[in-house]
Amino acid sequence: MQIARRLFLTRTAALISAAALPLAPLRGWAVTTMTAGGLRIDSVSDGHIEFPPDFAFAMIPKGERADLLRGLDIDPAAVVRSPLNITLLRQGDRVVLFDAGSGPDFVPTAGTLVEGLSAIGVAPGDVTDVIFTHGHPDHLWGVLDDFDEPLFPSAAHRMGQVEFDYWTDPATIDAIGAERQSFAAGAMRRLTALGQRMDRFGDGDEILPGIRAVMTPGHTPGHMSFQIGTPAEGLFVTGDVVTMLAGFARPDLGAATDHDPALAAQTRAALLARLADEGWRMLGYHLPDGGIGRVRRDGGAFSFDSEA
Ligand SMILES: [Zn+2]
Repeated sequence: MQIARRLFLTRTAALISAAALPLAPLRGWAVTTMTAGGLRIDSVSDGHIEFPPDFAFAMIPKGERADLLRGLDIDPAAVVRSPLNITLLRQGDRVVLFDAGSGPDFVPTAGTLVEGLSAIGVAPGDVTDVIFTHGHPDHLWGVLDDFDEPLFPSAAHRMGQVEFDYWTDPATIDAIGAERQSFAAGAMRRLTALGQRMDRFGDGDEILPGIRAVMTPGHTPGHMSFQIGTPAEGLFVTGDVVTMLAGFARPDLGAATDHDPALAAQTRAALLARLADEGWRMLGYHLPDGGIGRVRRDGGAFSFDSEA
């Protein structure tokens, strides 16, 4: 498998209405890889989210923060631009998306998935399957269009049972905490709109031929990763198990966006060890330059070798 090509496409001004013009122009782009086995994978951008550094790096002890981040070529004082990388898998007649992006209602810097797909010749109606890692806004909210209709009308939609139960439980909106209440309301609205279109799966299920669900809880209660094919010719879709480069260097630290930081850290360390030892290529939803790379053991922790 090798990176075959990388596309950068500047969004035309016509795509952005004057009223919604963001401070920086959005770019839709895709990184493409191919396997010898007829498996074709693209990392398609849904834009990015901006976080203040004090939020993004809150879990890194202040005394260690500057050194750790500078070692990763990250300015500890700069606004963090967290990319949104959607995995598109094409194999035979199947056009499979892992997560649906943010849609128009989350943040103005995100929601570029349709343009990114269009740039590589894929229309929403071509998508046969949408498989969710979890129910956060930047992964789920793009599933409905501007008219609250399913954006991918021909697709089967699938989410892990534990994750589905969490976001459809009426008690979640009160239990989740004030800062995430809009996440709960937004997920409930979308899952209700999808209704019977959303199928569920469990840990270890082979969802589609060659695609297996791997329960990776902590970031959210029922977060799922996906193992596609084999380490030699496949890919591990890791969703939000590791959301920043600092997570490789310090997998023991939770991330600010983790629901259960301690469980997320445990899951992160275990999955990174497995990916490194088995030699998987991974695609991380929030990692730089399309998020495709390999995990290396690095002392007692890990590092990420980007293939961009
Ligand atoms: Zn998330």
